[in-house]
Amino acid sequence: MEYPPITKDPAAMRVQPNLLDYRDVCGHFSWHTVRNQLAGLPEGGLNIAHEAVDRHAEGSLRSRVAIRWLGRDGRTIDLTYGLLRERSNRFAHLLGKLGMTKGERVFWLAGRDPALYPVFFGTLKNRNIFCPLFAAFGPEPIFQRLERGNARVLVTSERQYTRKVAALHSRLPELCTVLLVDRDDDLDARVLSLPRLMATAAKEFVIPPTDPEDMAILHFTSGTTGMPKGAVHVHGAVLTHLLTGRYVLDLHPEDVFWCTADPGWVTGTSYGIIAPLLLGVTSIVDEADFEPERWFRILAEQRVSVWYTAPTAIRMLMRTPETLRSRYDLSALRLVHSVGEPLNPEAVLWGQRVLGLPIHDNWWQTETGGIMIANYAAVDIRPGSMGLPLPGIEAAIVSRNEDGTVRVEGDGVEGELALRRGWPSMFRSYLHEEERYRKCFAGDWYLSGDLARRDGDGYYWFIGRADDIIKTAGHMVGPFEVESTLMEHPAVAEAGVIGKPEATIGELVKAFVVLKPGWEPGDALRQELIGFGRGRLGSAVAPKEIEFSDNLPKTRSGKIMRRLLKARELGLPTGDTSTLEGSES
Ligand code: ATP
Ligand code: MG
Repeated sequence: MEYPPITKDPAAMRVQPNLLDYRDVCGHFSWHTVRNQLAGLPEGGLNIAHEAVDRHAEGSLRSRVAIRWLGRDGRTIDLTYGLLRERSNRFAHLLGKLGMTKGERVFWLAGRDPALYPVFFGTLKNRNIFCPLFAAFGPEPIFQRLERGNARVLVTSERQYTRKVAALHSRLPELCTVLLVDRDDDLDARVLSLPRLMATAAKEFVIPPTDPEDMAILHFTSGTTGMPKGAVHVHGAVLTHLLTGRYVLDLHPEDVFWCTADPGWVTGTSYGIIAPLLLGVTSIVDEADFEPERWFRILAEQRVSVWYTAPTAIRMLMRTPETLRSRYDLSALRLVHSVGEPLNPEAVLWGQRVLGLPIHDNWWQTETGGIMIANYAAVDIRPGSMGLPLPGIEAAIVSRNEDGTVRVEGDGVEGELALRRGWPSMFRSYLHEEERYRKCFAGDWYLSGDLARRDGDGYYWFIGRADDIIKTAGHMVGPFEVESTLMEHPAVAEAGVIGKPEATIGELVKAFVVLKPGWEPGDALRQELIGFGRGRLGSAVAPKEIEFSDNLPKTRSGKIMRRLLKARELGLPTGDTSTLEGSES
């Protein structure tokens, strides 16, 4: 279905967007100008912690709340820029005392705990590398990542340690120290109390020379398509965080920003920690998991003005009665963003109807370090499109030639989404997988592994991951199109679409469908949905099989794992499921 564009009128907006004239800014763009908006360290040095915390704490924002942490139990903890500077200094000192030298790794396994922020920035100040893990990981995925990532220090909670890590500790000879965020005394000589050590560590710390190319963060990918890869990021990535915080999230000093992503996922660090602080705003962090009523309450009570969330959460909110939302005053909210999966046009429109604001989709990956394609506050939205490339980013649709080179395609052609290499937050390697890293590039282009097309006005439209594309009767079908169409039916809350091998047509389009409350699965509804799909998509693309399901397998970052739907359907091994939501494998 064609959706009419959502037009914008900046003159009528409460806050004037930072990016008013997209084409003009693209035409004059220079990364130098962005670099000049940062303070930097002597001799061309650059350290994320200095930019996000210290330069504000040493200036007029010292007493502004940087992080407002909301506990599951109703407690609120405010960390000002000044406090964050002091505590991250203490943590940096503490790492020095533990003998941590430049480039050694600090792992985080404590969810959204208030200690995250001093630990994150203290790690960067001491030029160590921060690597976050999902708190819900089971022992084996934790072990694999600690081992592959050469963890020297692990920051975690007592419960996590005793339940999951203690038994592994002897298999991790490189792991010297475990720091517990919630114990006041040490457990033994290697498992120490973080609060105790923090209390005695010095308050002042001078960040040693940091090169923009020094490694800062190690992030494992979501594992949607297979075994997660360890993407390496550098301090210089902060230029992208600053630019996207300003132009995409459209943060202004008075904003209250809420990024709902867990720090185990790259969105939770790039936008849950770094970008909002670079722009000096107050950032909300909720310790608890998704719960519709709680989320509406937080938006209302905290007067959130800019909200960054994910399609899976939006689809869950879409399943709740619209009357729920009407109990909350969301008048402070002015911008809503989404990332992580394609955002169905129905979800964009739901935002407009129920929140009074359209949802702005943006696209990026762990590998890109920051938002690359986006919808902007002042630019018209085409529902179902990921939007336009960030100023400073050159995107293209390419096809691979037999000899390994690529050719750039024109508008309207489906192909692989590529980015011209060299943007500041581009990953610098896959940990211990140099060959795999090299294969992501062809000449000047980074190849994303996602298929898309660009329309005549430069908007990018997601088709699917190369791995998920279905080849049926001579057609290439992207699951997103089929899933979005099914969601137009009033019974459908969510759908996951795969190709099932079939002798005559290659693959048959099969949909797994989750129904909205009040709808009963059954043959009649199945036939109705098949007919509905056929009417809108044509018989070549429409699903031929529909299976009702209570839920879809998802990664912990909320992405539908189509490879798992397919493996289960075919009775094949499910491969790495360490990032599967709900498991503790
Ligand atoms: P893995 O690489 O381990 O399989 P992953 O690719 O899901 O996992 P991430 O880096 O977290 O790990 O996710 C990036 C991917 O998410 C993109 O390549 C794309 O497929 C999908 N994605 C992110 N944002 C969007 C969006 N706005 N529209 C469509 N797809 C998106
Ligand atoms: Mg990926």
